[in-house]
Amino acid sequence: MENCIFCKIVNGDIPSAKVYEDENVYAFLDISQVTKGHTLVIPKAHKENIFEITADMAGPIFEAVKKVADAIQSAYSPKGLNLLNNNGETAGQTVFHYHIHLIPRYSTEDGFHPVFKENNGNQDLPAIAASIKAHL
Ligand code: 5GP
Ligand code: ZN
Repeated sequence: MENCIFCKIVNGDIPSAKVYEDENVYAFLDISQVTKGHTLVIPKAHKENIFEITADMAGPIFEAVKKVADAIQSAYSPKGLNLLNNNGETAGQTVFHYHIHLIPRYSTEDGFHPVFKENNGNQDLPAIAASIKAHL
């Protein structure tokens, strides 16, 4: 898609530190390197967010996530690794081409701050589950 920075990366129009590529998927280092090895896995096709990803794209994307996660683990032996995918501005998305962050974790104070939610317990869990299940 025109004016999409990640489409330009896939097409080689702007440079990236490529980690992995196959027919459907491209993976490269996030320029911000929140932690060492911070990588983005993206579909080559321009899709804005999880809602635009089709079911047949989900498998190849996650297979690549698994491959790259194992490679990061072998390369740097982090103590943990966060997977993160922001969908929509409200959720913190800034580049509107679907991507999954792989953020290796070296300590709890290594620069990445997972967002912890307040506990909004005491809700009607069966009713909420029923609302979601009704759409599956
Ligand atoms: P989001 O906030 O949408 O989940 O993540 C977008 C990510 O894309 C950010 O972590 C940002 O550092 C990264 N990013 C933005 N522009 C570029 C770029 O031109 N090259 C690379 N490699 N990463 C980028
Ligand atoms: Zn794009």
